[in-house]
Amino acid sequence: MKCPVCGCQEFYVKDPEDEFETHGFSVASGDVRFADEGSALEIQDVTETYCDRCSWHGGLGELKKS
Ligand SMILES: [Zn+2]
Repeated sequence: MKCPVCGCQEFYVKDPEDEFETHGFSVASGDVRFADEGSALEIQDVTETYCDRCSWHGGLGELKKS
């Protein structure tokens, strides 16, 4: 799993309850691993995911396909 545009494996999602708060995670291991282990955010295939390095964003499911 990596960004289809830049190949980065660091991403973040916006907090569903506060769009100004973001939760960063890495997919380098093939799984979603939050940097902050305290965040028990549930990410689904349709969850909007943002690349940490470029302007790519899309569902987590799109990431898996690439
Ligand atoms: Zn990217």
